[in-house]
Amino acid sequence: MNDTSISFNLDNNAFRGRIVRLDKVMTEIFSRAQYPDNVAAALAETTALGTLIASLMKFDGIFTLQMQGTGPISVLVTDVTSAGKVRSAVKYDEKAIETAQVLRKTEGEIEPTPHWLENGVLIFTIDQGKNTDLYQGVVDLQGKNLEECALRYFKNSEQIDTYLHLYLNKDGEVWKSAGILIQKMPQKGGKEGAEDDETLNELWNEDKILMDSLTKEEMFNLDLKEVLFRLFHEHQVRVNKEQEYAFGCRCSREKLQQTLSAMKPEDIEDMVENGKITATCNFCGQVYSFDKGELLRH
Ligand SMILES: [Zn+2]
Repeated sequence: MNDTSISFNLDNNAFRGRIVRLDKVMTEIFSRAQYPDNVAAALAETTALGTLIASLMKFDGIFTLQMQGTGPISVLVTDVTSAGKVRSAVKYDEKAIETAQVLRKTEGEIEPTPHWLENGVLIFTIDQGKNTDLYQGVVDLQGKNLEECALRYFKNSEQIDTYLHLYLNKDGEVWKSAGILIQKMPQKGGKEGAEDDETLNELWNEDKILMDSLTKEEMFNLDLKEVLFRLFHEHQVRVNKEQEYAFGCRCSREKLQQTLSAMKPEDIEDMVENGKITATCNFCGQVYSFDKGELLRH
């Protein structure tokens, strides 16, 4: 029960929320590669945010959160399937990370994820397979931390009042991550009045303050339902669905062969070593090896 998201409602359905915590998923991700601490923290935080937002979306397929930037970390990506399989990957320049830490005098500190990407974008994609429209949302990566960047997305693209917090916890060599989010429900018909709006705003502000009071210790040590009841017991918290997550990669030899075969023959030639071309999956570390002839057939 450690890799779970729970959906909930507050204040008689005025607001909806999600809480997510990842444990074994992160252990799996970090068992496949070693990263500098700042890269590991960014990867864990991205995985929590991706899973949190995926848990909010109705889809049948793959939700992807991707960030691209010009900094020492150039790509961070998490994808989550509707069946609850999660995987994440990062591209970074280790030398540039070290240099930046020396220049910024932040060695030994964890800096916010957007600082490592510098100028960039945050992209959400929902892919529901062939013959369906690809849903995509893009926002500039602006904010002092990843929470602020994500809130900008909700404000600009979705225009839904949203509030969220992300949490990181280093457990041995593994970075565990978690998150909580609340949203105002889109306005339903029926009675709407200045007084009602005022009451709703008061409740919304109270819920935000309660969320601010949630500590990392509570988030990582308590049962998630207990977290919700402790925080929101005076706000008619109602727990709905739970979803469990596990690490899962969708790479295959066939898919990779297709991708590589589509490359220019001279680029394939450049990759040949001892008559073989090897490629490693960025998500799970699986190494695939091909004979040159397998890729140059067409
Ligand atoms: Zn893979």
